[in-house]
Amino acid sequence: MSITSLCTAAGTGATTTPVPPSVDNLSYSLGLPGGAYCAGLVRGTVRSVLREHGLRDAVALAELVVSELLACAYRFTPERDVSLSLRCRYETLRVTVFDQHPVHPHGRADECRERRLRSLEVLAALAKSCRGEHGIADIEPPLPGSKLWAAFPLKEVYRYALL
Ligand SMILES: [Zn+2]
Repeated sequence: MSITSLCTAAGTGATTTPVPPSVDNLSYSLGLPGGAYCAGLVRGTVRSVLREHGLRDAVALAELVVSELLACAYRFTPERDVSLSLRCRYETLRVTVFDQHPVHPHGRADECRERRLRSLEVLAALAKSCRGEHGIADIEPPLPGSKLWAAFPLKEVYRYALL
């Protein structure tokens, strides 16, 4: 009897083979304490993860995107926990940062979101030149906070690596 034989979720183990890291299973979430130093730590983590998944050519763009999103979260919601999501789906690299930005009174929320979007000018230029998209949206209530995100087609990510 194997250690997983009583668990239906684990299967029998007889036909299970380890799945190696690849573009198809790039899916990471990372919780961070939100200090300014996190950007450097996360860049190193993202670099390692992308290399392991065969996305060495995505490192330059991904590091820039992660830095921009985390800097925005830190600038407008300093010293609060954030989480980072790094995924690849449908030939698109997706980076999302969830912050704990407070809920503003009606009217001020749009103004603040526009201000935060304007602070992402490097990301905006990158998205424009690499056919990417980015944005900031409120997290669904009852949780406070925002979702800062960027998505880039992989072929544009690879093209950026050649610049
Ligand atoms: Zn605000």
